[in-house]
Amino acid sequence: MTQVAVSPHVAAAIRIAREVAGPVANAVDKDARFPNEALAAMKEARLLSAFVPRELGGFGCGMLELSQMCEALGQHCASAAMVFAMHQIQVACLVRHGKGQPFFEHYLRDLVKNQNLIASVTSEVNVGGEMRNSICSVERQGDRFKLDKDASTISYGAQADDLLVTARRAPESPANDQSLILVSKAEYTLEKTGSWDTLGMRGTCSPPFKLRSTGGVERIMPESFADIASHTMVPFSHILWAACWLGISTSAVSRARAFVRKQARAKPGTTPPSALRLAEVSSMLQMVRANVHDVANECESLMSQPDAGTEVLSSIAFALKMNNVKVSTSTVLFDIAHRCMLICGIMGYKNDSPFSIGMHMRNALSAALMVSNDRIFATNANMLLVLKED
Ligand SMILES: Cc1cc2nc3c(=O)[nH]c(=O)nc-3n(C[C@H](O)[C@H](O)[C@H](O)COP(=O)(O)OP(=O)(O)OC[C@H]3O[C@@H](n4cnc5c(N)ncnc54)[C@H](O)[C@@H]3O)c2cc1C
Repeated sequence: MTQVAVSPHVAAAIRIAREVAGPVANAVDKDARFPNEALAAMKEARLLSAFVPRELGGFGCGMLELSQMCEALGQHCASAAMVFAMHQIQVACLVRHGKGQPFFEHYLRDLVKNQNLIASVTSEVNVGGEMRNSICSVERQGDRFKLDKDASTISYGAQADDLLVTARRAPESPANDQSLILVSKAEYTLEKTGSWDTLGMRGTCSPPFKLRSTGGVERIMPESFADIASHTMVPFSHILWAACWLGISTSAVSRARAFVRKQARAKPGTTPPSALRLAEVSSMLQMVRANVHDVANECESLMSQPDAGTEVLSSIAFALKMNNVKVSTSTVLFDIAHRCMLICGIMGYKNDSPFSIGMHMRNALSAALMVSNDRIFATNANMLLVLKED
């Protein structure tokens, strides 16, 4: 992170990233295990409820602070950062769309107390990454519902306390008429139907599961998922993911810089040839950082307006901007990591060197398919055809 003044909550995340998440990041990656230590420390610092408003007992952090936390964690353990980001995205949906609903406000107060971890269940077998379509549906029976879903990926599904699940609103609803439902561990079962042995983001522990759940109908969010997605889930996902990726890029560039400095110290009075490549990659990093911070700032100020910026949040221009931050950051991330590996040479290629960039590159590969960039480009292509504003 750049040396700017940060809030005490961001400072806590920076400390946890450096002192807790970073030291075990290699073990988390090697064993594809959940970053337990980082999550325990974040719970102790009450960071899982950071976005919950003060009146409900949380810290009332905004998008900018959350993105700074993700960036800091991403520099030290990409999996811990992504788990934290995904949880915060779910909290943001509950805070912003459960407002004024006694059930959800009560849930958020409990979240502050118990630091529950919430996972996301949007992907579905035979739907792929098309978040705005579901096959499964909510089946209401009086004041109860039943919901089963064949989920293709649930990050930290086994570790989560609660799940936010997308489904068609009713058995007769079309695929894109969806609701968002909060299901609780006491009322669901998860049957693991595959493995999570991946190139990167191994500590997110994201295998496929068959979900079977029931609950009271008050757990179904009243707003349509279409609005929740465009006003909250997509902006929070794209900005917080991008902040995690910015953290990965920052770490790779910092290793490359340490390597070039070491080369310079070995031959005092000369500038190593790799310094030119370092200058190049450092300018790329600055562009990513400016992009992520700018969009996070804009989002935060929009969402804090008295009308919650609803008109802008629903606009095509805003949707394009949110999608662009995702596709541009995820594309350049791998390029930055690769360039850093070339700077460090064999020391970057080795897994056991202090200048290793292998894990950065493997983690970076997940970014373009975490909702496929091609899907997003296809959506943007259609939106650009009807965009009226400049
Ligand atoms: C680290 C990680 C964690 C994740 N965690 C979760 C989680 O917690 N919960 C969850 O629900 N999901 C999660 N996902 C799933 C993720 O969000 C996507 O849904 C999933 O990766 C998409 O799967 P897919 O590539 O098989 O499918 P698709 O999106 O169907 O893509 C398959 C192929 O089809 C192409 N394609 C599909 N549609 C189009 C189109 N319209 N235009 C052009 N090309 C297209 C794609 O480019 C790609 O080549 C996670 C993914 C990752 C990598």
